Amino acid sequence: MEWEVVIGLEIHAQLATQSKIFSAASTAYGAEPNTQACAVDLGLPGVLPVLNEQAVVMASRFGLAIGAQVAPRSVFARKNYFYPDLPKGYQISQFELPIVGQGSIEIELEDGSSKTIGITRAHLEEDAGKSLHEDFHDMTGVDLNRAGTPLLEIVSEPDMRSPAEAVAYMKKIHSLVRYIEICDGNMQEGSFRCDANVSIRPKGQEEFGTRAELKNINSFRFVEKAIQYEIERQIDVLEGGGEVVQETRLYDSAKNETRSMRSKEEANDYRYFPDPDLLPLEVDAAFLEEVRKTLPELPDEKKHRFMKEYGLSAYDAGVLTASRELAAYYEDAASAGGDQPKLVANWVSGELAALLNKNNLDITESPVSAAMLGGLVKRIADETISGKIAKTVFEAMWNGEGDADAIIESKGLKQITDTGAIEKVIDDIIAANPAQVEQLLAGKDKLMGFFVGQVMKATQGKANPGQVNSLLREKLKQK
Ligand code: ADP
Ligand code: MG
Repeated sequence: MEWEVVIGLEIHAQLATQSKIFSAASTAYGAEPNTQACAVDLGLPGVLPVLNEQAVVMASRFGLAIGAQVAPRSVFARKNYFYPDLPKGYQISQFELPIVGQGSIEIELEDGSSKTIGITRAHLEEDAGKSLHEDFHDMTGVDLNRAGTPLLEIVSEPDMRSPAEAVAYMKKIHSLVRYIEICDGNMQEGSFRCDANVSIRPKGQEEFGTRAELKNINSFRFVEKAIQYEIERQIDVLEGGGEVVQETRLYDSAKNETRSMRSKEEANDYRYFPDPDLLPLEVDAAFLEEVRKTLPELPDEKKHRFMKEYGLSAYDAGVLTASRELAAYYEDAASAGGDQPKLVANWVSGELAALLNKNNLDITESPVSAAMLGGLVKRIADETISGKIAKTVFEAMWNGEGDADAIIESKGLKQITDTGAIEKVIDDIIAANPAQVEQLLAGKDKLMGFFVGQVMKATQGKANPGQVNSLLREKLKQK
């Protein structure tokens, strides 16, 4: 039996406001427990929530960025449940009327293609506090600093068909929220996390299978592994004659498995109802127009511009527009590199990305500036150096030895294009290897590689390989 995987994600992005969604308490991360929870966050009697305008601005930015309708009127609702980290006994969220309606986003796949993923809705809500199970013996501590922190919950359509697509989608949303500066994207601190809904169905069947919801995953790698594990578990269940039950599961990254938390029967009935303490939220066209004016060029717009302007593939353009900083670096390098956008793209996403990765550096911390990389590409394009020598130059630039021209000069790496000089080397090598010459002339064409190699070795890699090839053939013809 061939199975098809169906995945939908619910992403929680913490909005980068200074203060909480309904109070003036700070949202700064890492403060002493319970020093940033005010009377409103604690749900003390007699207090009233006041909506933070910045949270509305940020949700609106997101709505505009995914081409969704920002609702002219949305409503806050109480989601009732009991938990020690939720002192009010309810979470303020949005239910029937969310602020952001249907939109979509494009993801790039490894094979170079793109796919559009639907976004069902996005709504504003407050975060709960945190239970600390590890710091106390036989007790649980409750830190309410996080209570009331604004979240945007972004719900996707069940449009993804593999763990890789789910990761690409999560990365794309992560990139987008940072582009439009509504979330710092810090996954270690919990500012960006997701629940993954996973089901399988026989290939060709239209109806979806029963899904399991994998809760609170806070890394791209874990999302991929958790979904992969869950798919295999569901296949085992169905192929063993069983049924998948709708339930919430927890991913244990140490054991790489998912475990049942609660089934549908045990699920809470949240008794949602409109919060009487908050007026319906009204967003008018003038407000939205103001918000629209402050939006930067969006990732998908940038990606399409890169494809058109620089002749890049969808995949390359997607990689290079993953962050505003990386895109800016690429554009600066491309303009410094003369008319070689494709070559610059290869260097940025190849050699440079590899070294940044290895040294755990961000593009903004690159020891090789965009202008320097452009300068290097220029010297490859005008054949001052070969692509191979360029790697040596690049490493020297990385190690702070100066720009490409200075390094080429000081290390004497200039490509030898003087035909006479190359011919001289070739003559010597032909003279020194009569047996190989004979074999080559007898038809063993593979030996061309040997001769080219010898010439490159004798010139320390500085001969122009194309030139060496044609001169060699000419010389051998005369034999
Ligand atoms: P709930 O309110 O119970 O969380 P929703 O219908 O809002 O349920 O869906 C939540 C998420 O689950 C959405 O991202 C949606 O795309 C996804 N989803 C719904 N049905 C399935 C399914 N059969 N398989 C995988 N994902 C699904
Ligand atoms: Mg859900």
